[in-house]
Amino acid sequence: MSMNTINQIKNSINRAMKSAFYQKHFSGVNVNDINSMENFRNLPFTDKEDLRDAYPLGLQATPDEEIVRIHSSSGTTGTPVIIPYTKKDVDDWSLMFKRCYETAGCTSLDRIHITPGYGLWTAGIGFQAGAELLGALAIPMGPGNTDKQIKMMIDLKSTVLCATSSYALLLAEEIEKRGVRDKIHLKKGVIGSERWGEKMRKRIAGELGVELYDIYGLTEIYGPGIGINCQKQDAMHIWTDYLYCEIIDPKTRELLPEGKTGELVITTLCKEGAPLIRYRTHDLTKIIPGKCECGMDFPRIATLIGRSDDMVKVKGAIIYPSRVDELLATIEGVSSEYQIMIDHLNGKDILTLFFETKETDSIRDLEKRVEQEFKRNISITPKVKAVGMGELPRSEKKSTRVFDNRY
Ligand code: ZN
Repeated sequence: MSMNTINQIKNSINRAMKSAFYQKHFSGVNVNDINSMENFRNLPFTDKEDLRDAYPLGLQATPDEEIVRIHSSSGTTGTPVIIPYTKKDVDDWSLMFKRCYETAGCTSLDRIHITPGYGLWTAGIGFQAGAELLGALAIPMGPGNTDKQIKMMIDLKSTVLCATSSYALLLAEEIEKRGVRDKIHLKKGVIGSERWGEKMRKRIAGELGVELYDIYGLTEIYGPGIGINCQKQDAMHIWTDYLYCEIIDPKTRELLPEGKTGELVITTLCKEGAPLIRYRTHDLTKIIPGKCECGMDFPRIATLIGRSDDMVKVKGAIIYPSRVDELLATIEGVSSEYQIMIDHLNGKDILTLFFETKETDSIRDLEKRVEQEFKRNISITPKVKAVGMGELPRSEKKSTRVFDNRY
C-alpha cells in the first residue's frame, strides 16, 4: 500500500474528527498514531445504525457557511440519516458521475431520460448533474406516470434510460405491450445498482434493444455514480481516487483478500461535509484482481450478489438471492421475477417460492421442476407456486425478493 494512500486516509480522518459524530465514535483514537494500513484497519467500522444516532447534523465536519446541501437516505425504519455536502462534494460527485457516463460511452449528443426520484434521495439529482456536466441533454422525469414517460421518450428521442432495474423492466414491458418499440431511440440503459440476475438483464436489454450499465453508489457516500461497469461489461470500476475500498467477512469482520466475496467497506478520501471512515455498505461483492481489458486503471468490483443483511438462513442452509436468480435462469419457462416468503408455522420454517411464467399448460410440472432444482442446489425443499406474468409487484425503488416473516 502506498504512502500516498495512508496520507490521504489520515487527511480524511482528520477532517472526520471535526464532526461531533467521529469525536465520539473515535474517542480515544489519536490520529497521529495512524501511520500504517495495519493501524488504520484497527479503527472501528462505521455502520448505518451509528449514523442514525448522529441525526440530524452530527456528521457535519465543516462550518455552516461551507455546507450547501443535504441529502438523506431512505431509512426503512426509524430515524433517517442526513449527509451534509460542501460545494466541493457536490462538484466531486458530478465529476465522478460524468466519468460514469463517459465510461458507458455517452456523449454530449445523448438525451438522458432520468427516472429515479428527485428530492432528499440522492438519485435523480446525481444523474442530472453528471449529465449536465457531460453536456448531454438531461430529461428530468422522476419516477411514475408511465404514459408520460413513454410519450416523452418517443417525442424527445431519449437515447439513454436511467432507472432502477425493476422500473426499467416495467417500462420495457409497457413498451412491448403498446407495440411502440420501433418509435423508441434508446441505445443504453444506466441502471442503479442492486442485485439483479442475468435473466432480468437479458430481458431488459432484449426488450428495449439497449446496452446495459450497472451504476454503483449509496447516499452515505455521495450517491450513485461512484462506479460503473465499462464496455467490457463484466464488473464495475470504482473511482478509487475518491474512495478507499476494503472487503470484509460480514460475520467475522476480517479483511478478505482480492477475489474473495464479502462486504464492501468504503472510506472517503476527499469528502468534506461528512467524511466516512470504514463505512460498512452491506453490499456483497469482491475485488476482481488484475487489469481490465478496457485499459482503465481503476480497480473493479464484481456485480453485487446481494446484501449481507439479505442472506437468510433456513433450516441451516444459507440462501443468497443471487443463487436463486442463477438457479431460475436455468429453467425454461420461468421468468426473471420471483419472490420468496419464509414463515414459521407449527415449529417449522417454511419457504415458499413464487415465480412468474408465461406458460399456461403443465404448470404443475414446471413447479415440480423448480422444486427439484431448488432442492438439488440449495438443499431445501420449497413450496413452489407459479403465477402469471406481471402478478408479482414491480417497484420504482429497489426490488425486494425475500420476505422473512419469521421474526
Ligand atoms: Zn474496464
